[in-house]
Amino acid sequence: MTERDWHEIAEGVFRKRFEPCDVTVTAVVGSAGVAVVDTRCSLAEAREIKAQLRQLTSAPVRCVVNTHAHFDHCWGNAEFVAPRLTPSARIWGHASVPARLDPNDPALRALVAQLAAQGPEWAQRMAELEFRAPTELVQERASIDLGDRALELRFLGRGHTDGDLWILIETGAAGIVLTGDLVEESGPPAFGQDSFPLEWADTLDRALPLIAPDALVVPGHGAVVDAAFVRAQREAIASVAAEIRRLHAAGVPVQSAASAGTWAIEVKALGAAIERGYAALT
Ligand SMILES: [Zn+2]
Repeated sequence: MTERDWHEIAEGVFRKRFEPCDVTVTAVVGSAGVAVVDTRCSLAEAREIKAQLRQLTSAPVRCVVNTHAHFDHCWGNAEFVAPRLTPSARIWGHASVPARLDPNDPALRALVAQLAAQGPEWAQRMAELEFRAPTELVQERASIDLGDRALELRFLGRGHTDGDLWILIETGAAGIVLTGDLVEESGPPAFGQDSFPLEWADTLDRALPLIAPDALVVPGHGAVVDAAFVRAQREAIASVAAEIRRLHAAGVPVQSAASAGTWAIEVKALGAAIERGYAALT
């Protein structure tokens, strides 16, 4: 078994890392059906999830959860509703997600065009896209009943985006926590143009009390980690935020901040962190 197979990390909880984007998909099997967390970048990729799940369980997919609005986590949604899946699964996500999946949104259209330009396979996938936003919207918390087990969805504040959900799964042991991209293992945390670098560590602080020391923590990208890993990533993100605040207070111009600062995360991985942090402080 390799990292690229489905792993049953607790009874009835399967996870797998998929290319492209090394994105994690998790399937939770309950007596009332299956909940699939994240749906990959396209309908073709979501069909692959559905086909593979049929090898794992005969239970039908009843629920989908989007950890956040990024393309690699939710552009496969339409495969889980009629006519591509009947009866339709109910799709859950943070209340901010539907606006990010509006097909008329210029930022969304620009991203589709950018991905389609990556080659014939991407072009084909983008041509087939159909956006389906969550209809079961979460403000702060919600629970999904899968019969003999439940998933707890929590929004604990902004960080990687303005709509990142934590998903808590009870097991016989210390539990499983799905983090979306609030925690990443295969690369540094991603500070995009829609991230909140100054708030992210506070969000992790609210989550840490919910994560038992021996809980299994499943990041949006990468290997399963633990509470200690989350705490270490929290320290790095808090350090980046503190450095942004220090440079801003010292009057260092935004365009010089990367080279002027001392960073807990390598400079080339800071993405839009400095720009976004400065904008929040100004
Ligand atoms: Zn993301």
